[in-house]
Amino acid sequence: MPRLTPAAAIASPVVTAATLGAVRRAAPRVFRPVIVPVLAAVLLAACQSAPVTGRSQLLIVPEETAIASSQTAYMQMLSPLQKQGKLDNDPAVTKRIVTITERLVPHAINYRPETAEWQWSVKVIDDPKTVNAWCMAGGRMAFYTGLIVALKPTDDEIAQVMGHEIAHALAKHQAEKMSQTMAKQVGLNVVGVLAGPKFSGLAMQAANSAAQVALTLPNSREAESEADRIGIELAARAGYDPRSAVTLWQKMAKVSGGSGKSDFLSTHPAPEKRQEALAALVPQMLPYFEDRSPRPVFRLKPVTFATARAE
Ligand SMILES: [Zn+2]
Repeated sequence: MPRLTPAAAIASPVVTAATLGAVRRAAPRVFRPVIVPVLAAVLLAACQSAPVTGRSQLLIVPEETAIASSQTAYMQMLSPLQKQGKLDNDPAVTKRIVTITERLVPHAINYRPETAEWQWSVKVIDDPKTVNAWCMAGGRMAFYTGLIVALKPTDDEIAQVMGHEIAHALAKHQAEKMSQTMAKQVGLNVVGVLAGPKFSGLAMQAANSAAQVALTLPNSREAESEADRIGIELAARAGYDPRSAVTLWQKMAKVSGGSGKSDFLSTHPAPEKRQEALAALVPQMLPYFEDRSPRPVFRLKPVTFATARAE
């Protein structure tokens, strides 16, 4: 059982039996006789190619829904931390993380131009015991100070962490995990609800819960490889040494062998061959890293808690 982040401890109970029962009951009875053809049609429509790598992925939950529900999940997670004074406490650390992230985002937008409209932002969470970082669907990111305490990473290694996280969002992995979560927890009937012309309120409610749960679920091996492949390139194009992807995972392995308290490793399972696979990508990435052209910068969006409603 992976150790959950503090936020996950709050988020997980949101999907209750009552919620799930309500969603099941909400599926119209008349739907049952046609569930199989409709399900087949939905699954066909939901089977898409992942951006960038073209891997086939099942997306019952559309990316727009993942982004909308991530916004709610984000505010629910970060508003209490803001009140407790745990965000962006060390200006030097915040500047470091923001600077690196602002160099990565332009290349994410190059991969998927429509993401220029995302709410790209990053918050540093003052939590020295948590080794973690994430990027939600829609570009909202967080970086935990425990990652600096445990790994003492170079800027290049931090860029690998953030590049990897951004890659998960670019490749729609959160929508994919939400789809899996909903399929498993809510049952097939919800697919009928989702098949309607619009997401119903109950389906949306379930999606909101799934957005939080999905953040704490481990990624699949395929999703991890995909994020590694995209992340190392984002970092190299932003001017960060691709060889640091290998040293980062060497450090991660040491943390995992020690206290074993890495939230990052619980959501990012590390296949044995990961370092080798990243090392094999290095020669192909070095030209991007060594390119002397000016590196573009994307100014991150400010996060305002006062105007946002956490429902
Ligand atoms: Zn990952």
